[in-house]
Amino acid sequence: MLFLMLLLLLPAESRSQTDPAQCRYALGMQDGSIADDDLTASSQWYESTGPKYARLGRDEADGAWCPAGPLHPSDEQFLQVDLRSLCFVTLVGTQGRSGGGAGKEFVRIYRLDYSRDGDRWISWKSRTGQKVIQGNSNVYDVVLKDLRPPVIARYLRIIPVTELTSTVCMRMELYGCSWHDGLLSYSAPEGQIMAVPGYPIAYLNDSTYDGFLERRLQFGGLGQLTDGLLGMDDFLQTHQTRTWQGYDYVGWRNDSLGPGYVEMDFLFDKQRNFSSMKVHCNNMFSRGVKIFKKVSCLFKPRLISDWEPEPVGITTVLDDKNPSARFVTVPLGNRVGKELRCQFSFADTWMMFSEISFQSNMEVIKPRVIPVHTRLPSPLSTADPEPELSTMLQSQETTPPFIVSWPVDRPDDGSTSVLIGCLVTIILLLLVIIVLILWCQYVRKVLEKAPCRILDEEVMGQHSSCSDTMVVHSSHSNPTYETVFLLDPEYQEPVLLLHKLPELSQSAEDSVLILSNPAYDLFIPTSFPLIGWHVMKNKPISTNVCSGDYAEPDLTQCTPHQGFQSSVPHYAETDIVSLQGVTGSNMYAVPALTVDSLTRKGISVGEFPRQRLHFREKLGEGQFGEVHLCEAEGLQEFLGGVVPLSDPDGRPVLVAVKKLRADASKNARNDFLKEIKIMSRLNHPNIVRLLGVCVCTDPLCMITEYMENGDLNQFLSQRESESTLTHANNIPSVSLPNLLHMSAQISSGMRYLASLNFVHRDLATRNCLVDHQLTIKIADFGMSRNLYSGDYYRIQGRAVLPIRWMAWESILLGKFTTASDVWAFGVTLWEIFTLCKEQPYSLLSDEQVIENTGEFFRNQGRQIFLSHPSLCPPTLFELMLRCWSRDTKDRPSFERVHRHLQEHVA
Ligand code: AMP
Repeated sequence: MLFLMLLLLLPAESRSQTDPAQCRYALGMQDGSIADDDLTASSQWYESTGPKYARLGRDEADGAWCPAGPLHPSDEQFLQVDLRSLCFVTLVGTQGRSGGGAGKEFVRIYRLDYSRDGDRWISWKSRTGQKVIQGNSNVYDVVLKDLRPPVIARYLRIIPVTELTSTVCMRMELYGCSWHDGLLSYSAPEGQIMAVPGYPIAYLNDSTYDGFLERRLQFGGLGQLTDGLLGMDDFLQTHQTRTWQGYDYVGWRNDSLGPGYVEMDFLFDKQRNFSSMKVHCNNMFSRGVKIFKKVSCLFKPRLISDWEPEPVGITTVLDDKNPSARFVTVPLGNRVGKELRCQFSFADTWMMFSEISFQSNMEVIKPRVIPVHTRLPSPLSTADPEPELSTMLQSQETTPPFIVSWPVDRPDDGSTSVLIGCLVTIILLLLVIIVLILWCQYVRKVLEKAPCRILDEEVMGQHSSCSDTMVVHSSHSNPTYETVFLLDPEYQEPVLLLHKLPELSQSAEDSVLILSNPAYDLFIPTSFPLIGWHVMKNKPISTNVCSGDYAEPDLTQCTPHQGFQSSVPHYAETDIVSLQGVTGSNMYAVPALTVDSLTRKGISVGEFPRQRLHFREKLGEGQFGEVHLCEAEGLQEFLGGVVPLSDPDGRPVLVAVKKLRADASKNARNDFLKEIKIMSRLNHPNIVRLLGVCVCTDPLCMITEYMENGDLNQFLSQRESESTLTHANNIPSVSLPNLLHMSAQISSGMRYLASLNFVHRDLATRNCLVDHQLTIKIADFGMSRNLYSGDYYRIQGRAVLPIRWMAWESILLGKFTTASDVWAFGVTLWEIFTLCKEQPYSLLSDEQVIENTGEFFRNQGRQIFLSHPSLCPPTLFELMLRCWSRDTKDRPSFERVHRHLQEHVA
């Protein structure tokens, strides 16, 4: 019993030998432990911008490495770092050139090549198969990018990528730790697919393997078995979001391999003296998965020698009671080798491994001396309960920690005395480890007050508990952190996906969705392209209604607009903290010219004197700030009578004034101006009209026509379907012809936008406004901002994406087109015919909505469609279903949708 308790106390048991959450030490650019000689470059602009000046956080000579330039899109210039030994690299930090304040160059996106031997170079790819990594947007901030998967390499090359010819300069740091295993490559039969009727399909391939594949054998590389990620008890589940079932494991089926075993070769950097091998195995016996029955390993002392005849191995004790995934530790008897060949025998139909590591008494690869305070905070994760403790273990031990498997797998040699001896030894060792742990905890407490805390304190507290990609940014010399969740379009058929969707390979970084909260109504779009998410908690609504920006605000009239409901949950509200696919990608299908043509011509509405706006009440609050109802004195004359307004007899006209909040960031300000420019070019009876602006002084305001009935969502949600009952009881109601007419109007507005090739990106009832005559006008062009910006919207602030309205390709690929607007229109129709009483997919969590998106992509009949609303005529529901076609070409055009709806109205 004591033994079991002691085992359970072992923290290392839930971790791999190299834990990416802990392995985050600066590898020596900034502190100079990477020598100048180890920094080379394909070119440099001047001596004073040579590779040795590429040190993050330092500002020497001209302040950064700048390749000879300017850099053209087709150029491939690189900065190369030799780490002198194999390292497990988990993050890259980049920064632009400050040059004592004179610099203005930085690298927006870059690629990474790595090599273990200096000969074979491999391009780093995210789990999505994407090579491009988001870099900097200014010269000061440090942007840290988590490498998922991590890289095991000695040499790394950073390759700036540019879409336009420009001068680029950069400083950088690499983060990680020494690669104690010394493993250069493993070979194994290709992982297989488990398809059992009645169960989800599990894809058990080694998807990040960086070697070769020939006749179903993978060789010459490393992959998921050395990425530090341990699989869960249920092999269908994974902590890695946006991946597929079975992601964590590489698995093989017994009868497919003939001999009843899986043979793997392991090649090491040097000759080593092996004490043990640890294999993390699944044991979900109810699904025919068990740890291996026995393993037998041969050793080759040198590359050119033969395999030594005597194998080393064990027979395991199989376990039909505990389905936990577990490490099986295989003693290797201190045999010496440079290469190992192990045969793992099946105990059941399937065998699945998630990680393999080796403990060897090698000539120790001396880790670079890494001060404790340079370790970056780990992204918190459920699999990472005691990060600091394990850091201590990792950083202080020169040999890997002794780890015993749990449940224990013992050699079945029948010798009780050996077993007892082993147990006693283990207990003694455990006692030592416990003492060590307690000691580490004590030291950690002391260290928390020491320099390492400095860095942690700089963290802005925006880490998510489930981050998969983390981008860190800092301001000036004081780095701060921000967690970024980028969309990860990788699904279970990555090869197919890449094949089918070539734009993926050009688009930016891997990304992951982390969604877990119910949706909210408030919406803060970002500059696009996207895409990262984390859950936003309730957002405080400002109560400062009468701010005094207008002439004579009348405090007595500051009553909330009846239509404003800040708390109605609407859509998946998720934060965008970083963007992807910004340059060099085809992700955004709106032709650049279109938005250019909207924006380049400037604002075609006039500056309205703000003192002639008289505040009446607050209508609502949106992404930029509050929307006020105001009287606009003399607006009719201001417009020269061109725009017919409802009150033409000289009396002040009521308008809605959208005001940029005082604390808005520069980005938000730019976005606000961009929305003004876009709106000023739109002219259609079903698009909300911009009447004037106040942009000469702050706060920036846009003046639009006032839509008395507020937004369509709250309008419909407060009404019932017209019937004798509603008539008799005077209940606010809408008729079916009303709903059809509303739908037709929206389709008319969208047809107009589509004719301009303008993509709205956020069509939903909440973004349609209703006037007193039930005219519907589409509003909110906030999502249209920064369509082509290479920058990303970084906050303080957050932004959210309406995933329940988004087409699968918008979520998975960041691709927004008129066809994805058609999809959103289908959802908007569904909202209309459910009278906005329910959120789309209300029974699904955000994660499930994302999963469902994957099903739409796979199109194997498992996707869940929104149900047929009872009020909706069958032909209209068919139209909705066509809007949700997987292939964009199968979706109807807005022209067709409009015609269809007009027929209904008639
Ligand atoms: P927005 O910032 O555009 O998302 O607007 C926030 C809220 O203000 C909307 O949901 C509406 O309830 C209200 N609102 C915005 N524009 C108008 C308008 N032109 N007329 C009436 N209400 C509006």
